[in-house]
Amino acid sequence: MKRVSIFGATGSIGQNTIDLIKRAPSEYQVVALTGGGNVRQLAADARALNAEVAVIADPARLPDLRAALEGTTVECAAGATALQEAASRPADWVMSAIIGAAGLRPGLAALAQGATLALANKETLVAAGPLVMSEAARHEATILPVDSEHSAIFQALAGEAPASVERVILTASGGAFRDWPLAKLETATPEEAATHPNWDMGQRITIDSASMFNKALEVIEAREFFGFEPEQIEVLIHPESMVHALVGHVDGGLMAHLGAPDMRHAIGYALHWPARAPLPVARLDLAALGKLTFSDPDPARYPALDLAQRVMRRGGLSGAIFNAAKERALDHFIARRIGFTDMARIVSAVLDRTDATAGVVDAEFTLDNVLNADHLARIRTDEIIASRG
Ligand code: NAD
Ligand code: MG
Repeated sequence: MKRVSIFGATGSIGQNTIDLIKRAPSEYQVVALTGGGNVRQLAADARALNAEVAVIADPARLPDLRAALEGTTVECAAGATALQEAASRPADWVMSAIIGAAGLRPGLAALAQGATLALANKETLVAAGPLVMSEAARHEATILPVDSEHSAIFQALAGEAPASVERVILTASGGAFRDWPLAKLETATPEEAATHPNWDMGQRITIDSASMFNKALEVIEAREFFGFEPEQIEVLIHPESMVHALVGHVDGGLMAHLGAPDMRHAIGYALHWPARAPLPVARLDLAALGKLTFSDPDPARYPALDLAQRVMRRGGLSGAIFNAAKERALDHFIARRIGFTDMARIVSAVLDRTDATAGVVDAEFTLDNVLNADHLARIRTDEIIASRG
């Protein structure tokens, strides 16, 4: 039996992971399930899967969690320390599907106990790539990408010599505003941005798809995980979301990964790796589809992509700053304090300011320094927004 833990179990990736586990319950022993605040969902799944421990991030909800799990053997806990403790419990496979930089520390704890880390939480690599990769190596722990593009690259690279890779292409649907007139983006609302043409995801990542901050994070994630140079990483708009990524080799050949837009493919691949197992995902009917289309992203529509290149060239802790500023700007957009197009302007301004305080960006790559850069970037974001009046 495989011992598995799921961090962010109540979210979109977490629920898709649980769907796969529930289909073969005899193969898994569930160690820890965690959620941010949705006690009802967390308790229902902990009960159904007979988890060893259920952790709710919000300490105020612990009494509700206890009440919901009364009469079961599931342990209940709450708060950041409990999350760390749960991540340290021996497990073979840990799904990292908390959203945002909050996923970093549980992921590091899972690596420290040698678990295979199925990494949906791209922010972990964007904020702290070198630290996370060196921790994985130090503890001989495996990281498997769960982001669909990175799972696609990982699969396309199987059996290939890394030196034969010339370039990689990440595809992007273009998000909710792909066909909107540029001028209209200024007034786009959070509700409009949170509608995705193809993928059914959490609210935050769906808005990040409309702004392409999600793709910007993924470009940096690809650099950190696979070690590609910034100029080797390309992005193509592909509205059908059937080709998830392509790897280009020195001989000009492109290896593409195709599949229906269903995260259970990438999750299931990581769950069964290195084997493949049948998955409950739709099979593509290419003849019915008829054609697949691709185009270059317009930098004026998607300024986040240029910011990703800037961050990669700057290096150091600028990924942590970029991610934190993006998270904070997104909070302000969701709260309707800033407009949709303000997000990229503000993140750019935060990068300008933190570049000027070089000590932060160029500090040594330790967890404390990453958390410090993250904290500072959130303060700077708030300051810049407040100063706009
Ligand atoms: P989501 O918002 O649906 O779920 C996030 C989960 O994290 C929930 O369980 C939530 O309760 C929990 N959480 C939120 N804040 C927390 C905090 N501060 N501390 C502890 N737990 C917290 O998000 P999602 O769409 O499932 O995405 C999860 C991660 O996977 C993100 O990093 C995202 O970029 C990545 N990802 C998602 C998809 C997708 O299809 N949804 C695809 C690729 C990558
Ligand atoms: Mg993705």
